[in-house]
Amino acid sequence: MKKEPFLTLEEVKEITRTYPTPFHIYDEKGIRENVRQLKEAFSWNPGFKEYFAVKATPNPFLIQILKEYGCGCDCSSMTELMLSDAVGIRGQDIMFSSNATPAEEFVYARKLGAVINLDDFTHIRFLEDCAGLPETISCRYNPGGVFRMSNGIMDNPGDAKYGFTTEQLLDGFRILKEKGVKHFGLHAFLASNTVTNEYYPLLAKVLFEIAVKLKEETGVSVEFINLSGGIGIPYHPDQQPNDIYEIGKGVREVYNQILVPAGLGELAIYTELGRFMLGPYGALVTRAIHQKHIYKEYIGCDACAANLMRPAVYGAYHHITVLGKEDAPCDHQYDVTGALCENSDKFAIDRMLPEIEIGDYLYIHDTGAHGFSMGYNYNGKLRSAELLKKEDGTVQMIRRAETPKDYFATFDFCSLFQ
Ligand SMILES: *Cc1c(COP(=O)(O)O)cnc(C)c1O
Repeated sequence: MKKEPFLTLEEVKEITRTYPTPFHIYDEKGIRENVRQLKEAFSWNPGFKEYFAVKATPNPFLIQILKEYGCGCDCSSMTELMLSDAVGIRGQDIMFSSNATPAEEFVYARKLGAVINLDDFTHIRFLEDCAGLPETISCRYNPGGVFRMSNGIMDNPGDAKYGFTTEQLLDGFRILKEKGVKHFGLHAFLASNTVTNEYYPLLAKVLFEIAVKLKEETGVSVEFINLSGGIGIPYHPDQQPNDIYEIGKGVREVYNQILVPAGLGELAIYTELGRFMLGPYGALVTRAIHQKHIYKEYIGCDACAANLMRPAVYGAYHHITVLGKEDAPCDHQYDVTGALCENSDKFAIDRMLPEIEIGDYLYIHDTGAHGFSMGYNYNGKLRSAELLKKEDGTVQMIRRAETPKDYFATFDFCSLFQ
């Protein structure tokens, strides 16, 4: 499917009069349409709730938009909890799905009244000791082995650090029940960035079956099942996007098959999507500032892997559009690079693109999730601004760019940078 930018060259020229490149920009219209569709696809389940995975895009302005549709937050650290609290998402609207959790984070999550999703059997005791057990608790399941879908092996839960084994889950529920926990949930995350409508229904089947087993063997009726994240997006134009309606329908079918006959037909479905919620509705806009002709042709940009690390660390594909040359033939082969002193700092390798001139604006697609948030400060590079293209076409700054002062802020105990 052809990938269309949500900005034109004219719009970018106008924006750069106020906000210099590089910047991440998000599309409010796309975000709203998508969250509406997600809600509709799961409207058959009265308790359905999306807890947005804050780590994907920890920006309060964007989370505020999702909040309007009833979304909560999925947090896994102190600052993510603080961010959620700051936008007014509190209590059971927070899912605290963390692992290797420090005691003070459990204490804070309890203070906010968050739903705690325990990652491990030993955390039952740990949580009880540091913060006390709440009335509602969720446990993360790891079925082990490999998780297969019809297109081959997708992931390897047996190698993943997360979750309880089946036996631990059965024991854990018995113990939690004895200790007075009243409401139970289940969670699992078995494959990331799946671009197939099959993943959620298959995951749901695994979780629904274990919920039935838990009921039979411990007498506990699970009240919610959290399918977590993992619904992916088509980064590459050859990929077919997921159909969220098909996914919702697929989950509904296994729900009716497995849960309803077991007397668990009241159970709420939760999700903790990150990438699917915002990924396609963000872009990194950067400018070509150098061209270099050695053994290969290089375009040097004013953004680097510190602004978007997925290509450098995962070899991930991010589509690039040269703004104003959307319909020009892709008859030049380039490596598109940033300025880090790291040869992996390339947004694209051997990519066929229209001929690029210095000053051209490159629009790097699908940076709305796990983009800005994975940024770092290597080589003293500063984080960019984040902008929001509003529904009326105007642009609002939703995070300012870092300045050297921010970079040196942690030396504020001494006089070197004052
Ligand atoms: C990262 C994460 C998510 C979100 O994953 P996406 O792939 O962005 O949908 C959800 N839940 C947990 C526990 C996570 O760690």
